[in-house]
Amino acid sequence: MTTSAPQTNPAERILMGPGPSTVPHRVLRALSCPTLGHLDPQYLAIMDETCEMLRRVFHTKNALTFPVSGTGMAGMECIAVNLLEPGDEAIVCVNGVFGTRMKDVMERCGATVHAIEAPWGETISKEQIGAALDAHPKAKLLGIVHAETSTGAHQSLTGFADLCHAKGAMLIVDAVTSLAGHELHVDDWGIDAIYSGTQKCLSCPPGLAPVSFGERALAAMDGRKTKVQSWYLDVSMLRKYYTNPGAGGGRVYHHTAPINMTYALREALAIVLEEGIENRIERHAIMHRRLRAGLKEMGIAYIPTHSLHTLNCIHIPAGADDATVRRRLLEEYGIEIGSGLGPMAGKAWRIGLMGHGATQRNVDLVLAALLEVLK
Ligand SMILES: *Cc1c(COP(=O)(O)O)cnc(C)c1O
Repeated sequence: MTTSAPQTNPAERILMGPGPSTVPHRVLRALSCPTLGHLDPQYLAIMDETCEMLRRVFHTKNALTFPVSGTGMAGMECIAVNLLEPGDEAIVCVNGVFGTRMKDVMERCGATVHAIEAPWGETISKEQIGAALDAHPKAKLLGIVHAETSTGAHQSLTGFADLCHAKGAMLIVDAVTSLAGHELHVDDWGIDAIYSGTQKCLSCPPGLAPVSFGERALAAMDGRKTKVQSWYLDVSMLRKYYTNPGAGGGRVYHHTAPINMTYALREALAIVLEEGIENRIERHAIMHRRLRAGLKEMGIAYIPTHSLHTLNCIHIPAGADDATVRRRLLEEYGIEIGSGLGPMAGKAWRIGLMGHGATQRNVDLVLAALLEVLK
């Protein structure tokens, strides 16, 4: 028997789970372009352009907008470690996996974190935000997940920034599953710091976490009494590399930027801007409605009252075996969907319609495949 070398030759799946989403070939081709040095003027131009495109997609003028090296969780951690110091107070909205994680990450920064809770699948109300800010007037920030991928709940942020700012707190938003899939206006909505990921609605491989910091966040970082506890994610050093210093200024090496991932992100953002952000968001809405209508015909209902377009969290129909159905979808149709998490394990499926994958072809395919497998 000959021993063959391991091969990197994965199947082409249709990724319709909670992320990653299917990556277009254009992005994969960009990823395979020649690697440049991280201080090469050509690379720096690509990086600057990527940051400018991120500003457009975030709808922000924030100068400090760049992709953190690492996945979405690195973005969450980057914001937490830079904005919080030991002894600070924070408020975090907890109604799913990612709110739970945000609380944990912020507690690890030495902050006392007060939770605003809602049942999984529900959203947090403006009244709850107001009451928590009243109860904890020293809170430096309020953290909330815009698109809770674990439950499929779409959190409205309307009026939240005003409530926070009236109490001197910053509004911090997790936009990992909403950026480029749902309406999101960082400046107009008064968001002070935000993070996302590349592998959800941007349809880029996982590996970078776009972040953006506004004026209040800059002031909070300038006012720190202690060093940022993470060397790798310390924005006071990172900004000397990522922020264009202008004529005469130099770029200061911190760590080697993930060069090829930057190519991929730049290409993914170019696709978003070519389609048009508003058109892309509308496409996600249309595909969500198409999927919802098809599921309804099959008698399958949604769990959250306010569902995301990008992540559809549905009840597993009575009599269907969770693992068997998902395995058959993968093996027979090459379709990946997500299982339920935490209290929803065994009770929910999560169908992602993100970025490149939010198409009529995929919606009709997953509906047809489900119908067949559920027979
Ligand atoms: C996926 C996700 C994350 C974490 O991103 P990773 O890329 O897995 O590190 C954080 N928040 C939300 C809402 C997510 O959906």
